[in-house]
Amino acid sequence: MAALLCDIQPGDEVILPSFTFVSTANAFVLRGAKIVFVDSIADHPNMDESLIEELITPKTKAIVVVHYAGVPCEMDGILSIATKHNLWVIEDAAQGIDSFYKEKALGSIGHLSCFSFHETKNIQSGEGGLLGINDTDLIRRAEILWEKGTDRAAFFRGEVNKYGWVDIGSSFLPSEVTAAFLWAQLEELKSIQSRRLSIWDSYFQLFDKGSTTTEILSETYQKLLSQASGKIDITWQRIENKGNAHMFYLLFQNETERSEFSTILKNEGVLSVFHYQSLHKSEYSKKHFPDQYLRELPNSDRYSDCLLRLPIFYELPEVSML
Ligand SMILES: *Cc1c(COP(=O)(O)O)cnc(C)c1O
Repeated sequence: MAALLCDIQPGDEVILPSFTFVSTANAFVLRGAKIVFVDSIADHPNMDESLIEELITPKTKAIVVVHYAGVPCEMDGILSIATKHNLWVIEDAAQGIDSFYKEKALGSIGHLSCFSFHETKNIQSGEGGLLGINDTDLIRRAEILWEKGTDRAAFFRGEVNKYGWVDIGSSFLPSEVTAAFLWAQLEELKSIQSRRLSIWDSYFQLFDKGSTTTEILSETYQKLLSQASGKIDITWQRIENKGNAHMFYLLFQNETERSEFSTILKNEGVLSVFHYQSLHKSEYSKKHFPDQYLRELPNSDRYSDCLLRLPIFYELPEVSML
């Protein structure tokens, strides 16, 4: 819907990070856009805003930011680049619920924003999402696209006496059952978030080698590490990257150490997962965006190879039991 509302046409260019889920790109590729990929910053998977401007061409229409792990991108800089070049800013806030950038909720900063309620997110309804519209000029058309290209919403408000086909659209709306399932969780957002934040804190203490108050947790961690054949060097997250506790990840020196550690956890009955193969290096890019396929985006590749996500969900037992 965001791509439709920005009226993305074949040949238009859209800038987005290579280290993201395919859906970020697919929305625009479905409208015929060419995707131009940005690398991540060295110490966080979020896009490096200093690399955006050099990628802008006369065909560029939009910048799509991804607030990875609910940690905000540098929106001030990104908005000023967008304003200067007259570009849309769309926030992929799929992981961004209940997280803030300078006291503004993620998803309320760009022209449009997309939240996900996929089962892997903090608040979920199995599948589904939410479109945030921060540009009032877009509301009317959004409603029509959402209602399968009809003016049914206006009809329900009594503004027209019958409704019909006025634009393109699809069945973007969730069922009542799905919405009810979601609503119950939105009502509990505070307690869900406080549980997740406390799990995140426990992980942070567990992996914070500098911490002296968490000797017992560190011992568990040392035990896990000593099971690894080589010495595994982990970069743990900084406290500033707590975000909305969507995710807790570890960063290894290389892919081998990551898989070694993942196997140790698996043997302890703990599922850890990695994700996002750099999109610019994908089969699809190779075929459709060969110039992008040939680019070097080293930070994105490093996150693809070295990042490992630890389990984080409401019912997770105390982390000290790890
Ligand atoms: C989960 C996720 C998506 C996809 O969300 P859907 O609800 O499956 O469309 C897109 N982008 C990011 C960054 C995500 O984490």
